[in-house]
Amino acid sequence: MSDWISLAASQSYPAGTLYVVATPIGNVADLSLRALHVLGLADAVACEDTRNTGQLLSRVGLQRPLVAVHEHNEREAAGRIAERLAAGERIAYVSDAGTPGISDPGARLVEAVRAAGHPVVPLPGPSAAVAALSVAGDLLDTGAGRFTFAGFLPPKPKARAEAIARLAALDHAWVFYEAPHRIADTLAALAAGLPGERRLLVGRELTKLFEEIAVVPVAQAPAWLAADPNRAKGEFVLVVEGAGSAAATGLPDAEAQRVLSLLLGELPAKRAAKLAAAITGAETGALYQLALAQRAGNAGD
Ligand code: SAM
Repeated sequence: MSDWISLAASQSYPAGTLYVVATPIGNVADLSLRALHVLGLADAVACEDTRNTGQLLSRVGLQRPLVAVHEHNEREAAGRIAERLAAGERIAYVSDAGTPGISDPGARLVEAVRAAGHPVVPLPGPSAAVAALSVAGDLLDTGAGRFTFAGFLPPKPKARAEAIARLAALDHAWVFYEAPHRIADTLAALAAGLPGERRLLVGRELTKLFEEIAVVPVAQAPAWLAADPNRAKGEFVLVVEGAGSAAATGLPDAEAQRVLSLLLGELPAKRAAKLAAAITGAETGALYQLALAQRAGNAGD
């Protein structure tokens, strides 16, 4: 064990540096050896929630001074951290779980510290999106392995349906996060807004006791969720297969969808689809289906 730690310790960790450290998304044993070493070395650990990070540190036998840096004080806290770095301290920054800056705070702190002339060093590690993508298999084949990270979809039905319509046109896979109280609505919106056979990976509670990974066609996703009440519990990350080439699927491209969305603000679905097809050359039927899905989303607002 001590040999493993010395692997991490053999690298130099300069003073006056901000270390941006990824932490586990559930299983504490996913904390990397370098993360463990740097958290122990840091003069202070800046974090989103001092209670949460205090618990993580105590589980791995560490005790460090904690500094709260959250959404609401990130800018001013960054100023104080830059001063400490100028005085030669090493500061580690962690978010509540996973990789800082990925649907989590951290970007402003990094920006302020770099602007003040101090080095910022990443310590890579867990991220729910990357974990889900790593088991997505051939859902990633569309678009030759490329993917779009969509963060969290908008919570309001209309904006969510519009976001899904835009993402639906991507030739490659997309990955996003969802909260348990919205998972049923979101799966219903995906089923309404995507071709039914498009495959979806649902990653629930990754790395935790009730971890579940399922790949289902989007049309069946609401029924899959409803089949077991436990399936709506916990943390979710979803990967949606890409459309492949627009020519192969007949799906309107992103520009056609943009035009459709604009026209839908003024016209009935049928008329908007017809005009969007005339303007962009996309297929009227596919545009009409998307128009109906968007309208269904609007009705839920
Ligand atoms: N920075 C984090 C990362 O790198 O994954 C993401 C932070 S974001 C505020 C939290 C969301 O990530 C959760 O609401 C959930 O959608 C997703 N998530 C986090 N942990 C997860 C897990 N163990 N399994 C599935 N999804 C998870």
